[in-house]
Amino acid sequence: MSDTLHVPPAQDSAASTEEEYEFFKVVQGYLRHAAKLVDVPDDVLTILSQPKQEIIIHFPVRLEDGKVHLFKGYRVQHNNILGPYKGGIRYHQNVSLDDLKALASMMTWKCALMGLPLGGAKGGIKFDPRQYSERALEKITRRFFHALGSNIGPMYDIPAPDMGTNADTMAWAMDTFVNTVGTRSMSSVRGVVTGKPIMSGGTEGRVKATGQGVVHCIRYWAEDNDFDLEGSHCTIQGFGNVGSYTAMLLSKMGVSTIATGDHTGYLYNPEGFNPHKLMEYVRKNGAIAGYPAGEAISREDFFKIKTDIMVPAALENQIGVIEAQNIDAKLVAEGANGPCTPEGEKILLDRGIEVIPDVLANSGGVTVSYYEWVQNNRSEHWTLEEVDARLETAMRKAYRKTKELARQCNTDLRHASYGAALKRLAAVYRERRIWP
Ligand code: NAD
Repeated sequence: MSDTLHVPPAQDSAASTEEEYEFFKVVQGYLRHAAKLVDVPDDVLTILSQPKQEIIIHFPVRLEDGKVHLFKGYRVQHNNILGPYKGGIRYHQNVSLDDLKALASMMTWKCALMGLPLGGAKGGIKFDPRQYSERALEKITRRFFHALGSNIGPMYDIPAPDMGTNADTMAWAMDTFVNTVGTRSMSSVRGVVTGKPIMSGGTEGRVKATGQGVVHCIRYWAEDNDFDLEGSHCTIQGFGNVGSYTAMLLSKMGVSTIATGDHTGYLYNPEGFNPHKLMEYVRKNGAIAGYPAGEAISREDFFKIKTDIMVPAALENQIGVIEAQNIDAKLVAEGANGPCTPEGEKILLDRGIEVIPDVLANSGGVTVSYYEWVQNNRSEHWTLEEVDARLETAMRKAYRKTKELARQCNTDLRHASYGAALKRLAAVYRERRIWP
């Protein structure tokens, strides 16, 4: 069995010493609260409170050791009233149905908030991709997507990268899908996944899109608060796709990343890291461990560092009570999904630390994924400038909408982002009604 659970060290999450963190329950709590704020009918709330479909597949793969390994894959399809299901594929040893239900529903809120004609889904495989060769990862990916079969499709359910997956994973996924739908449809179904490499039908600007969206939100927050970003400091938890591009794009605006960390540990550099060099190092070595230009610090000390902006860009359940009491920042911008626990967020807000929630802050990824899907469907290729300009407009609109609803409902940005999404979903259910 290759899906043996790797038990993370106790410092991996905020609630690891408390009872088990139930991410889906947390998200349902936000949903119920937001529904009251914007007067969503009970029927609609009932429908949205659970995913439409939860697919679990055990699939065998013969690996380099000559043995057959059994993997557990998931695809949770939360809602498709606005359009095809859309959401990432996560490869991680802690992937669980509960987390994927939470993450799939959050994709529904993100797409609704951003005004995209897409629904919400999330999937993944419960295994640690770092333990496998590239050849094995390709085999596992291809076997998983073959097993998913017609449960996905360019007009039905469109996966994308998430933690532990990247453009290569999407190229193998797309290639597997197009080779199994029949040669006549091959070129019309490239839009079955997004986040592909550019030569294989990907879009300009997708790799940096999530970080770019986070950085746009930070910029809007700075404008609103008359805060000069030039010369300010940032700390970033997680230096993968989202964390590294956030660091790089922030550095262009004069913001130094003074501390960062990943699954191998944390580093501090009061002078600020060179994000390009650190990214290059992580690309070569797989993690920040051993990077010479920084002092190794503990996870606890990382959350105590005085900074202006803190960007969690790793996992859910990272900022609980203790971290929230320790964080010395003006803003927490959630690059990751679900990094703050409700208790942690309350402490941050009570301490006057603003939180830009995941559903808004990291929605640049799905927005540019949508652009990729549109380009695939139209056989077009947009320039980076065009993608960037569209994303900026979309992020600004969503940010303003969320701020305005927060003001009207006298609530925080998280419940306002859910509220804005719910308003759109409820309007569609009102028009279409529930069949039959
Ligand atoms: P990634 O796999 O590229 O990077 C994940 C990072 O988190 C790595 O640096 C890893 O070492 C670190 N990490 C893992 N476990 C950790 C731990 N216990 N403690 C500290 N760091 C740890 O993943 P990503 O795509 O950057 O995704 C990060 C987060 O952003 C996830 O919550 C994901 O759902 C969210 N997100 C990603 C996208 C996207 O487009 N990739 C879009 C929206 C949201």
